[in-house]
Amino acid sequence: MSTHRVVEKLQALIRIPTVSYPDWEQVDGAAFDALLVEMARQFPLLHERLELTRVDTHGLLFHWPGRSAERPVVLMAHLDVVPVDGDATWTHPPFGAEIHDGAIWGRGTLDDKGQAAAVCEAVETLLEQDFVPAQDVWLSFGCNEEVSGRAAPLAVAALRERGVQPWFVMDEGGAVAAEAFPGVGVPVGVVGVTEKGVTSLELRVDGRGGHASTPARIGPTVRLAKALARLDRHQMGASVPEPTIELLRRMAPHAPAALKPLMTNAARLRPLLTRALIAAGPEPAAMTRTTFAITTLSGSPALNVIASTAKAGVNIRIMVGDTVASVLEHVRRTIGDDQVQVTVVDENEPSPISPYEDDDAFALIESTITEVFPDAIAAPYVMMAATDSRFFTEICPRVYRFAPFRMTKAQRQSIHSYDEHLGIDALVEGVHWYQRLIERIPA
Ligand SMILES: [Zn+2]
Repeated sequence: MSTHRVVEKLQALIRIPTVSYPDWEQVDGAAFDALLVEMARQFPLLHERLELTRVDTHGLLFHWPGRSAERPVVLMAHLDVVPVDGDATWTHPPFGAEIHDGAIWGRGTLDDKGQAAAVCEAVETLLEQDFVPAQDVWLSFGCNEEVSGRAAPLAVAALRERGVQPWFVMDEGGAVAAEAFPGVGVPVGVVGVTEKGVTSLELRVDGRGGHASTPARIGPTVRLAKALARLDRHQMGASVPEPTIELLRRMAPHAPAALKPLMTNAARLRPLLTRALIAAGPEPAAMTRTTFAITTLSGSPALNVIASTAKAGVNIRIMVGDTVASVLEHVRRTIGDDQVQVTVVDENEPSPISPYEDDDAFALIESTITEVFPDAIAAPYVMMAATDSRFFTEICPRVYRFAPFRMTKAQRQSIHSYDEHLGIDALVEGVHWYQRLIERIPA
């Protein structure tokens, strides 16, 4: 196990609970202030030599001039974390940043302060060596990613205002994933090349309400329930998207013999593969299509009162290929009842697919993965979750989502859950990866 100064730096960041809440009143602004002070203390050269633009309340946008400004690179991370739901389930205190079994434990180690610390440490190290990158490097650290806040869109606006058109953008998302696929023995450095669009709808039925002793048939609650049941039964079209085909193709040589032909010929066997993924469970099924989750539900507040209004929230993850408009069309057609009002609460289109074949930027990322993680393969994939980087697709066609950390399946599952932890060796490798990435940016 390495003892590297970045370990203590990350520990210091983890101990400051910069928790995001949708309601600004709930947010501890002092914690965010403290985090920025701590970052300046931990990464002094970075703060001294890079030009800083403050974005939104606590977002940071650093500019590191390179020898050329022609093909700027943007490296992203976010400084906020999700709340901790009951400390008791954590083996070690979520804001303790304790070291156990060669790992730092705490909220934000993986999502996403570990990444912020690795980027900053790599830059700090290069600055100590008076290194000048071949191209301008921008660091964009958001402060409200977890609540879809304004920091990322404002950072995009700041870059646009300065005429910056990034060559590529790198944010959280994939990882060097162990146990990425059943039977594939090598770690896979998965780089997100697109992400699903998160859109939420409210379905609402109004009626007369009244006393529960004299109910009419098909009241608001029943009408809503029927609509929800129809929505649950009828999915949108499914298919395996192109990046997933490429991911399977690249993993094929390392897969069990029985799966090799299917994975190698994934493109030709797409319909079969689609059905297999849907049958394999909710997680693989989500890789093939837009998903609808009925989340909130409300009717009458009292047991003996008929609801005059029934409402349901539907959280939708839109697959690349579908659009907000096509989803709305599907919802209205499937429900087929104009007494069910459909309101869009928030809408995000899926992100366009960034290039991953015959592309210099992707090749740079890919070769840096295989250099630093020689046992791993690199591959594109479709991200299921949303990141701040989706806003950057407005100014850049190459937006990639990858954290250069080795993660087990258990670690990936700990994100937004409990027992989040990052291996110390993995953190040090991550610093090295960023350092090599920056050093290898071509003129
Ligand atoms: Zn995150």
